Amino acid sequence: MNAPSTRVAIIGGGYAGMAAAVSLAKERIPVTVFEAGPVLGGRARRIEFQDQALDNGLHILIGAYHETLRLIRLVNPLGEKALWRTPLQWHMHEGFQMRAPNLPAPMHLIAGLCLAQGVSVTERLKMLLMMRKLHQSRYQCDSALSVTQWLKIHQQGEQLTRDLWNPLCVAALNTPADKASAQTFAHVLGASLGQTASDSDLLISKTDLSALFPEPAAQFIQQHSGQVFTHHRIERLECRGQDFFLHFKEKNDQKDPAPHQFSHVICALAPQQVNRLLPEVPSLQGTRDLIEAFDYQPITSVYLQFTAPLPVRLPCPMTGLVQGPAHWLFDRQTLCGQKGLIGAVISAEGAHDHLAQAALAQSVHDQIQSHWGPLPPLLWHKVVTEKRATFSAVPKLQRPTQKTEWPHLWLAGDYTQSPYPATLESAVQSGIACAQGIRQSLSRAL
Ligand SMILES: Cc1cc2nc3c(=O)[nH]c(=O)nc-3n(C[C@H](O)[C@H](O)[C@H](O)COP(=O)(O)OP(=O)(O)OC[C@H]3O[C@@H](n4cnc5c(N)ncnc54)[C@H](O)[C@@H]3O)c2cc1C
Repeated sequence: MNAPSTRVAIIGGGYAGMAAAVSLAKERIPVTVFEAGPVLGGRARRIEFQDQALDNGLHILIGAYHETLRLIRLVNPLGEKALWRTPLQWHMHEGFQMRAPNLPAPMHLIAGLCLAQGVSVTERLKMLLMMRKLHQSRYQCDSALSVTQWLKIHQQGEQLTRDLWNPLCVAALNTPADKASAQTFAHVLGASLGQTASDSDLLISKTDLSALFPEPAAQFIQQHSGQVFTHHRIERLECRGQDFFLHFKEKNDQKDPAPHQFSHVICALAPQQVNRLLPEVPSLQGTRDLIEAFDYQPITSVYLQFTAPLPVRLPCPMTGLVQGPAHWLFDRQTLCGQKGLIGAVISAEGAHDHLAQAALAQSVHDQIQSHWGPLPPLLWHKVVTEKRATFSAVPKLQRPTQKTEWPHLWLAGDYTQSPYPATLESAVQSGIACAQGIRQSLSRAL
């Protein structure tokens, strides 16, 4: 059904770009992906260190990531076996702890809260009341409110705020509760807790994040006559008439190769990378202004390698800590078979931003020791900070649509319009939306 001259270029091989490419290739629409880096995956990618496949950031998926999970099942031969899945559980060490039993929603949440530990009955009742009100309002709330303001209106107790709401907000939105949008938070609660019980499941990849989706996606695309290039940074996007010309520098090449011509382009970049490439035409100024207004939050991942076996037995493969610097510890030995390895996540901005890497690794080491007793010395540590890991999910943030004002130019990425904050799911959904838009425009043209 595609016109003979149809050729779609996708700039960026992160989850959004690869989702768009898989969706188009499946329809036999000719597609070429250009990724600047050596590895596919973007902000969810493998980094090699000391013969280990680590990730640039430890990621959690939820059962409500329907499109991400659907595409993983489509392209990854392991399907969902590539992921460790557990029913909703929240384990704050020496704080609030709950595990949802295997019951239909919302009974799983109600029963989980009734059996929860570390928080008073009054606080649990207040939480249930708030969840009921939220459900009745279809997870809509005043879009001007921050999460902190919204929790106060619903009289949420101090301990539940400290042990559940604040860490959940930072984990889900990567934005501190006093800055974060209550409406975006309400959407995440609705998607994960308001539907089926399996939507609130937690999933963690057993493989690295490039091997989970982007790399098998590349194989799928190639099997469906598409092309995927790494080491191909697009330097300039030129529009001539109805067509696009992509200018790039190949690695180690002295002179610029001839530009490649395409009928459609999906720009699947991180928001901070987009404006440099968008053509400076008046019709795109509105989009450029929206992106310019974004603010960003960091995420730091700290890997601590001990001699195997792991010298500390975490109560849960993913254990939360109330006092910083680390918010969550991941037992990579249980989750990914990486013997003796602990991963720690520090989300959003904070005092840790000013620490040198070695000092930060040491302070996470000390934090673990303060809970579980003396630890042996480290074999090595690795600290990865993504300074612009996600946009700040603040109230009333306006996000650009996937369809732009320029014909045949589309935007995919976690920052484009979505009720979700910056997540793998918003990235994947945006890529699918671009592919559907192109498919529909091709059907209309015939
Ligand atoms: C440390 C960290 C932890 C996170 N934790 C979670 C989590 O637990 N759960 C969750 O759901 N989400 C999490 N996220 C967010 C999630 O990773 C992102 O929302 C998602 O990966 C964004 O995908 P994307 O395709 O929109 O953008 P990106 O992944 O940024 O993809 C853009 C791609 O474009 C490439 N590129 C840039 N410029 C060019 C150019 N000129 N030419 C060609 N290619 C170019 C880049 O190299 C990159 O590969 C986390 C993010 C980080 C950084």
